[in-house]
Amino acid sequence: MMTETSHPPTAMPSFEQLGLPDHLLATLAEVGYETPSPIQAMCIPHLLAGHDLLGEAQTGTGKTAAFALPILVRLDLASKEPQALVLTPTRELALQVSEAFTRYARHLRNFHVLPIYGGQSMVVQLRQLARGAQVIVGTPGRIMDHLERGSLKFDALSMLVLDEADEMLRMGFIDDVEWILEHTPSTRQTALFSATLPAAIRGVAHRHLREPEEVRIRAATTTVEKIRQRYWLVRGVDKLDALTRILDAEEKLDAALVFVRTKIGTEELADKLAARGYAAAALNGDMTQGLRERVIEQLKNGSLDIVVATDVAARGIDVPRISHVINYDIPYDTEAYVHRIGRTGRAGREGVAILFVAPRERRMLKSIEHATRQPIEPIALPSREDVSSLRISQFKQKVLDTLADPDMEPGFFMNVVEEIVEENDLSSREVAAALAYLVQVGRPLQIEEEEGRGWEQATVLHPQGKPPRRESFVADAPRTRGARRDRNTTDAVPEKVFASGKTQRYRIAVGRDHGVTPREIVGAIANEGGIEGKLIGQIDLFNDFSTVELPALPSGLLATLKRIVVCNRPLDMRPFREDEALPARRPRSAVDSRRDDRSHKAAAKPWEKQAREKQVQEKRGGREKWISRSSGESRPSRKNAVQQGGRSFTNHTTSWKKRREQK
Ligand code: AMP
Repeated sequence: MMTETSHPPTAMPSFEQLGLPDHLLATLAEVGYETPSPIQAMCIPHLLAGHDLLGEAQTGTGKTAAFALPILVRLDLASKEPQALVLTPTRELALQVSEAFTRYARHLRNFHVLPIYGGQSMVVQLRQLARGAQVIVGTPGRIMDHLERGSLKFDALSMLVLDEADEMLRMGFIDDVEWILEHTPSTRQTALFSATLPAAIRGVAHRHLREPEEVRIRAATTTVEKIRQRYWLVRGVDKLDALTRILDAEEKLDAALVFVRTKIGTEELADKLAARGYAAAALNGDMTQGLRERVIEQLKNGSLDIVVATDVAARGIDVPRISHVINYDIPYDTEAYVHRIGRTGRAGREGVAILFVAPRERRMLKSIEHATRQPIEPIALPSREDVSSLRISQFKQKVLDTLADPDMEPGFFMNVVEEIVEENDLSSREVAAALAYLVQVGRPLQIEEEEGRGWEQATVLHPQGKPPRRESFVADAPRTRGARRDRNTTDAVPEKVFASGKTQRYRIAVGRDHGVTPREIVGAIANEGGIEGKLIGQIDLFNDFSTVELPALPSGLLATLKRIVVCNRPLDMRPFREDEALPARRPRSAVDSRRDDRSHKAAAKPWEKQAREKQVQEKRGGREKWISRSSGESRPSRKNAVQQGGRSFTNHTTSWKKRREQK
């Protein structure tokens, strides 16, 4: 008999109430999770009790922790045999899920998780499998290969999760999935998660799950009058940059409530906003009641304009001047969304809700539109130039307002300016310019690209902290049973081809505007070009192209790489001429220069950067979100080591006086 829970419990239980052990409670507190998400609240007790489960849940609902936490509770860490298997449709998801396991298992000794996916070197995988792991996370094709070779044995397997089952169906893997299910002990516990439950998935559930508990979060429809809903598809520009542009350019923005998922996330984002000159503070469940009340009072009286909050902490806030709710992290479900946006449009005023949606979260966007019975309009981000000219006109207005302020006593200040002019043989325009410069430090009038953004993205996820070797960024292709092959793998180019040792910078015709990430570039070149990941050097992303450093390529290989398609565009790879014009660079602010000074420890490779960031993360008490300290990642020996992501690293803070002398 199937049981169905169609609504989340009205009062969300705590993680303690769900019956999780202390070490996991400690981890969850460290990663900043305040309360279980609805899908977690509903699934964890069933999975801890050993029931099979059919969960209708999409990306972003917190489903990974919903199955990973109970698995971690039930593992026997004295044995290194695979006890849990998670099947995912893609390599990316396999890596994400195994990272989540590692994160949640940080207080568990002897825990091992292994991602197994097509395109990765068989030799490496065989070695890793021989070492043993309690949890295997993999794509169906490669798992089948190992089962057939006998390199993977499921005799001790007691838990199996099918993640994004409808995606596996869509991609043609469902036969493979059933074949794997048939080759695991029938005594296992099985959980199937799927964003939708079409008949074929129900069929799999019917054949392979035993009296599953059915968990579904059904969207209740609600009308949200007086709130204009909009969304921005996260692409090209990073979220912080997008947020600041929106905060600057939105008309009628009085105060904004920005929602993120974790307590740590509230602090980090509020700090970053404050550092950029916004009156911002965090609001989360770790703060005392008194402190929280103070933040809300400051928001009411206008001493704060932006509050970055978690769902729990913002519950019930009633501040009429909140004109905007910004969903920086997408909510877990439509109910949470409706609660969030209900913080604006109060006391008869109009409100604006803006949702940041990653391409993978589009399904949640559709659910929200359905639940609120209103279309959500896409927004175009204001350009840097728009934001700069807005800031300049606001600045001019501020100067005029200051001149009109009766408290200013201009005589005294005019005397000070006069003294500077006379003592230094300067013009008053020069002094005025210096003063204008001083005022805008921290909130520059000329907006620049975020520091080191390319490299934040360039963190190539790899659980062993090693370079990705011939990783496939395409999913496993469906395969014929019994046939042993490795479809997505191009034979690796022998290293001797690159024996000259020369490197060359190449230009490829995909850039940030096309939504590319360094990881995709590495994946395409390594997998489809057959060039080992360790030979791929620095990648710089620009708006409409990127550059990548590679060993000098023979023309045949270059022709192959030219044709590879990434983000629906051929790479059209060609050597990059160092004299080729790069996108215009602008002077940088003093704040930026200071940031550069901190970051001279250049990492030659993204994975080295990742390892270092991990250390930083661990030093800071194991925070969930990695802190990027990087900016000047270029190798010092390179001629273009001063360029990063289309930006100049020249120091523009030379003193005013000195510059005059130079003239
Ligand atoms: P998922 O739907 O599993 O892909 O999770 C989406 C995101 O939500 C991940 O970044 C998780 O770290 C985060 N997350 C999952 N559960 C919670 C929670 N209870 N509180 C805060 N963040 C969470």
